[in-house]
Amino acid sequence: SHEAVADIGLIGLAVMGQNLILNMDDHGFVVCAYNRTVEKVDHFLSHEAKGTNIVGAHSIKELCQKLKSPRKVMMLVKAGQAVDDFIAQLLPHLEKGDIIIDGGNSHYPDTIRRTKELEAKGFLFVGCGVSGGEEGARFGPSMMPGGSRDAWPALKPIFQAISAKVNGEPCCDWVGEDGAGHYVKMVHNGIEYGDMQMICEAYQIMKDALDLSDDELSDIFAEWNKGELDSYLIEITTNILKYKDTDGSSLVSHIKDTAGQKGTGKWTVLSALDQGMPVTLIGEAVFSRCLSAIKNERIAASKILKGPTAKFTGDKKEFIHQVSKALYASKIISYAQGFMLMRSAAKDNGWHLNNAGIALMWRGGCIIRSVFLGDIKAAYTKNPELENLLFDPFFTKAVTEAAPGWRNVVAQAALLGIPTPATSSALAFFDGYRHAVLPANLLQAQRDYFGAHTYQRLDNESYVHTNWTGTG
Ligand code: NAP
Repeated sequence: SHEAVADIGLIGLAVMGQNLILNMDDHGFVVCAYNRTVEKVDHFLSHEAKGTNIVGAHSIKELCQKLKSPRKVMMLVKAGQAVDDFIAQLLPHLEKGDIIIDGGNSHYPDTIRRTKELEAKGFLFVGCGVSGGEEGARFGPSMMPGGSRDAWPALKPIFQAISAKVNGEPCCDWVGEDGAGHYVKMVHNGIEYGDMQMICEAYQIMKDALDLSDDELSDIFAEWNKGELDSYLIEITTNILKYKDTDGSSLVSHIKDTAGQKGTGKWTVLSALDQGMPVTLIGEAVFSRCLSAIKNERIAASKILKGPTAKFTGDKKEFIHQVSKALYASKIISYAQGFMLMRSAAKDNGWHLNNAGIALMWRGGCIIRSVFLGDIKAAYTKNPELENLLFDPFFTKAVTEAAPGWRNVVAQAALLGIPTPATSSALAFFDGYRHAVLPANLLQAQRDYFGAHTYQRLDNESYVHTNWTGTG
């Protein structure tokens, strides 16, 4: 039999798993590594993990024997069947109170199911969103754990040690019950889709309307990164736009404009539809990737469907400033929508989400990290019951001040025929949200007219039906 030497076991020796193990080792935890293809264990031990305290196992049984009690086994494997397969293999070798953690991008309904199944058997299960890519995993990711609350005291010292830090505060805290961690990670990914799309729209409108080069655009993004838009995605955009191909031209100008996606943005939008929450910006971001993907059809359409040919004639410097305001305002809308969605899902699922904690987990380590998330954390710290981010005085003021420039950018884009789906739908949401009266009165009349669906009067809440044609 093997001696229990390891603080935690980790299954899955692809990029994420290897980097998290090395990160844990840096922080003084003894990790036992395992992988389905067992040869990868020895390769890892003799290469990347050489000279560390990392140990390995060649079977699930050996892995479990090498873990101190309560056993903690973290999986970083492909989401889906692989997770259920490993759980089934682990159970015969675990004892009640042992903890299984799924650090992959699992869909939250699976995590809800697994938590219930494992808790019923006396085990603890944690679904932990991990963001930041391989770099984050190696030197400090954002971590969003949820599931069996009783597992948290045992995991907290390890997770908070390896996670990213902002001003000394770890970007990892308990998120909530069963699927809450993976849900919040999913919304994080949806928000990431939105942030990326907004930046791409700012890039296109400045490129097309103002005829700016990629070098000039890089300088503009570098400038923006010093202010309220300061974020990882603006930073990498700055670097991408100035990166040169072998012939000296910008590399990005040679990249085919068809976007891929792995599904977490779509999951966010599907959940928004289920919840009846108007998460319009992420929806537009997902559909924009879909539109980009049908390139051949767009090429055909570009020859048939003509639009404006006019060029921008106003003050270029002022317009660039307005584009930054449009981006900032749209971003506020997107995060407001994301928190609306999480609030609704939490209510539905009985999760007790800590909004300020979520903002802090996203503040560092992950792809959407930004100074802006510090302002969101401040808003929710001041008022944990805040109904909507737009009601916080800081954000009310920010969005109101940005609005004139934002409107001009959306109007100019429409006039010049430049697509800005995320930026303009964000403005449409803002204008809808701030209207006490919307035309749904007419809509209700239409529904009642053709389908006798009934409607409520403003002066009397009861449901009534009108015979609109007077003939029936
Ligand atoms: P991955 O390519 O998603 O998965 C590879 C790992 O999964 C390998 O260890 C592989 O084992 C194992 N695996 C795949 N199918 C299996 C099966 N049917 N049964 C057992 N094991 C199976 O690896 P990754 O990119 O490191 O990501 C790991 C998890 O983290 C995923 O859920 C991913 O979505 C998530 N994630 C990734 C990133 C990122 O930047 N890459 C960021 C955040 C989260 P073998 O070696 O035996 O094939």
